[in-house]
Amino acid sequence: MKSKNIPKKNDNIKSTSRRDFLKKGLLAGAGTVIGGSIVGSFNAFAENGDTLKVLGPDGKIMAVDKSHLKEIGARTEEQMQQAGREGIPGRKWVKVIDLSKCQNARLCMAACQNSHQLKPEQHHVNVLRMDRTGDTAPFFMPKPCQHCDDPPCTKVCPVDATFKRQDGLVLIDNERCIGCRFCIAACPYSARIFNWTEPKDAEKYKDVEYNIELNVPQKKGTVSKCLFSADLLREEKMPYCVTACPNGVYWFGDENENAVTNGTTKETVNFKNLLKDNAAYVLMPELGVKPRVYYLPEQDRIFPFVYNGSTEIKKEQH
Ligand code: SF4
Repeated sequence: MKSKNIPKKNDNIKSTSRRDFLKKGLLAGAGTVIGGSIVGSFNAFAENGDTLKVLGPDGKIMAVDKSHLKEIGARTEEQMQQAGREGIPGRKWVKVIDLSKCQNARLCMAACQNSHQLKPEQHHVNVLRMDRTGDTAPFFMPKPCQHCDDPPCTKVCPVDATFKRQDGLVLIDNERCIGCRFCIAACPYSARIFNWTEPKDAEKYKDVEYNIELNVPQKKGTVSKCLFSADLLREEKMPYCVTACPNGVYWFGDENENAVTNGTTKETVNFKNLLKDNAAYVLMPELGVKPRVYYLPEQDRIFPFVYNGSTEIKKEQH
């Protein structure tokens, strides 16, 4: 009997490092190298004389002397925003979530919130407690945007602020969003949130240039949601949530290469075999919206159910 915990490897695919998991020319446009750190060009800059304010990879803003910057074929802001709308050629991003491994650590949520200027109550990915019946053990289910291939959300936007890219990602341009919230109503997965108030650390981010692939700075009166970390994909890195998970829940990769990599173990396996061997499924397939997020069933959990420090199964109080 095959086990979902030991995915069958494709002989042609070797285990690989995080930076190697993407090989085809992602960096068509560039980044800026500062003291060895790569900063996405989108995240620049407010100019002040000889210094620039830069949003670093750790989410902190730093002032940098222009003489320390070495630009690698940097594009104009307009070109970069256009690239952000088009996506990365030749790619079809997919995510696989193994429910048998999720222990509600919630580090994926924290990493996502820290990267996207979100308040503790705002989620691009939310870990839900699921109860199939009153008598079976509950389990935990991380739920991000499903990046549907036939997304109802983009069809109802009256200003083309939310769109589907060639690499499968569904993103939002907060500079176009008028806050009508039709997309929130259209999403069957409740994957979108609305900035009703000023975002977290609004003052700190006020001089940072808007990045369509990061949705930072967040804007009051606009919609936000999971972006599959489009800014990191452009830098050949795995999404924030994927690498933050300590339990091997997340696989991420490229359907065109038929390969996904585990964010914890860094193991790369055959994507289609992983789905087939473990009876993967998508949420609400009957809707026909074609999600790009797949789930491996929670059966055969590799740990006992623990919730709020207790192994006792209690119903949630609502
Ligand atoms: Fe749009 Fe919702 Fe599908 Fe994400 S999950 S692409 S927000 S319909």
